[in-house]
Amino acid sequence: MATSTTARCVFLGAPGAGKGTQAKQVAEHFAAAGSPIAHLSTGDMLRAEVKSGSELGVAAKGYMDKGQLVPDQLIIDMVKARIQQPDAAAAWILDGFPRTLPQAEALDENLSGDQALTHVISFSIPEEVLVGRLSGRRTCGKCGAIWHVENRPTKVEGICDTCGGELVQRSDDRPEAIGKRLEVYRTQTAPLLAYYGDRGVLREIDADRSPDVVFQELLERMQ
Ligand code: AMP
Repeated sequence: MATSTTARCVFLGAPGAGKGTQAKQVAEHFAAAGSPIAHLSTGDMLRAEVKSGSELGVAAKGYMDKGQLVPDQLIIDMVKARIQQPDAAAAWILDGFPRTLPQAEALDENLSGDQALTHVISFSIPEEVLVGRLSGRRTCGKCGAIWHVENRPTKVEGICDTCGGELVQRSDDRPEAIGKRLEVYRTQTAPLLAYYGDRGVLREIDADRSPDVVFQELLERMQ
C-alpha cells in the first residue's frame, strides 16, 4: 500500500470529474495507513462558511449559486489560513484550488522551497459525461458522502447509506448553474494545465472510468 507523509498535491479538473470523491477516499486510505493527509476542498470550506452565515459565506453565496468563481483574494486568504492549520502541516491535497492563474501564483508564493508541490494531477474527462455526473449527484447533508442517482445510488432513495442522513442536491448542481461552471472551467481553470505542464509536475489521469479504477491509479501516482 502506498503511504506518504510529505505529499502536497493539487487535484485539477472540471466540476464533476471526481476530484472530491477521490480526494476523500485517498485521505481515508492514508489515515488508515497511519500517515494522514489533509483533504482541503475549497468548495467544502465555502459551503461551511455559507452554512454558518459568516461574512465570507454571505459574500460567497451569490457567486456559488450562479456557478461563478468567488473572487480570488477571498479564496487565497481562506486557503492560506487553512493550510497553516496543524492537520495540514505534513501533507495535503488541494481539491478545487487553484482555479485561476492568480490563485496558482499565490499558492507558489506561499510555498517556500522545500514545501513545493509534489503532485499536480489532472482529471481528464469529456464534457458530456460531466453534465450527467453533476445533474445526478447527491450529497449527504450530514456526513458529506457523495452519491449519484444512477451511477452510485443509495439503498433507500434520498437517504445516505453511510450515516442515514438526508441527501441533498447542491444548488450549483442544478441545470442553470452547470453550464456556467463548465464554461468557467474552460476559460479560467483549464489554462492551469499549461501552467503546471510547463513545470513538468503535471500528471494526467483518465477520470472517465469507475471510481475504484481511478483510485488505484491515483495511489500508484502518489507513491
Ligand atoms: P466545488 O465544490 O469545488 O465545485 O466548488 C463549488 C463552488 O465554490 C464553485 O463553483 C465556486 O463558486 C466556489 N469555489 C470553490 N473553489 C473555488 C476557487 N478555488 N476559486 C473560486 N471559487 C471557488
